[in-house]
Amino acid sequence: MNDQFDSPSFEEEQLEYKADLIDLLENRLHGIASEERNYAIEILTEVFLRVPKGDSETLIDRRNVQFIIPLNSTAAPFFINPMLVDNRPEFGGMIPLWIISLRPDLIKQPRDEFTYTIAHELAHAFLEHVGHYPEGTSMADTELDVNP
Ligand SMILES: [Zn+2]
Repeated sequence: MNDQFDSPSFEEEQLEYKADLIDLLENRLHGIASEERNYAIEILTEVFLRVPKGDSETLIDRRNVQFIIPLNSTAAPFFINPMLVDNRPEFGGMIPLWIISLRPDLIKQPRDEFTYTIAHELAHAFLEHVGHYPEGTSMADTELDVNP
């Protein structure tokens, strides 16, 4: 008679997706604690919500993106011992893991710059294009090397 509880609305699905993303990102942000950590999770979630779901899956499941705050902003692959992870690949060898490191002062920068930096570094991981440490610390100094 009334099936409104059987099929979740778009808003409900979005809320569920957001909650899943928050859980996931909380496990992948390292290096800071307390309120700053919550703020960083909020910004990370915001960026991932704007990325198409398929691309988010690539970043999370294939690139294994991890975020570390107390370094300079860049993106680079690291290779870890497969014994350390649950979802081991069928093939042997080391497992690539993309580390997105973020400058600690980003927390104090305007929200837009924080968001931009995360999106920029995620683009490096998505394209498997190693980032580099920019000379300056402002958005204007960030390189445009992600563009093909
Ligand atoms: Zn870059």
